Amino acid sequence: MKEFAIHSVYLATEGEGVRVGTPQVFVRFMGCNIGCINCDSKDTWEFTEPNYSLDELLSVIEAESGVNERRVKNISITGGDPLHPKHIPAILKLSKTLKQKGYFINIEASGMRVVDEIFDLIDFVSFDIKTPSTGVKFNEKALLKLITQYGEKAQVKAVIQNRHDFDFVYDIYTKIEKETPDLKTPFVLTPCFEPGENLPKVLVQSIVELNQAIGAPFKVILQQHKVIYSSDFGNF
Ligand code: SF4
Repeated sequence: MKEFAIHSVYLATEGEGVRVGTPQVFVRFMGCNIGCINCDSKDTWEFTEPNYSLDELLSVIEAESGVNERRVKNISITGGDPLHPKHIPAILKLSKTLKQKGYFINIEASGMRVVDEIFDLIDFVSFDIKTPSTGVKFNEKALLKLITQYGEKAQVKAVIQNRHDFDFVYDIYTKIEKETPDLKTPFVLTPCFEPGENLPKVLVQSIVELNQAIGAPFKVILQQHKVIYSSDFGNF
């Protein structure tokens, strides 16, 4: 039975956030109705019919991860919006099976909702703050729940396109810090740029300097895959 609506499965290196540089198999689900203006995965928005059974999906994941005991045992479940209610039964089933096989599982969460049955099971949650430049309403309740319940195995990520975005995240951070004095969850700022664009150095430098000026509560991390695949560094 086909249960999984999959855009693609591929081995690559994590390009953003605190796990940057970690090789992992990306399992990218189809379907997202959140509609971020600066989304770089619009080809995953459509809710298509399931195209993989569990066995088919596992065999593609295992083929991508390698065949011997040195196989890559990291999975990133992403999309689309893998936590859209339509996907929950499928993600739960996949996560349980992958955990039984010893994989480390990260999920890319849009920040719209916390799904306890999945977050309890997996190893790491990358949770978005939707900044004003995304055009999407930020879900404060969901972020507080994430930090309270899953803060020790999560990061909070925000795409920063301008000063307004930066101030928005700083306000949220300040509020959460007051309510959670032993806050351990890393907050990551991701300077916004598209594949094919030149790296916006002025934006990146401004974010770094603003962060330093307020005592550096954030990590500023570029999307390295976009740097690598946007620029011509010559042959190896
Ligand atoms: S949640 Fe992710 S996939 Fe959905 S629109 Fe926003 S950036 Fe794109």
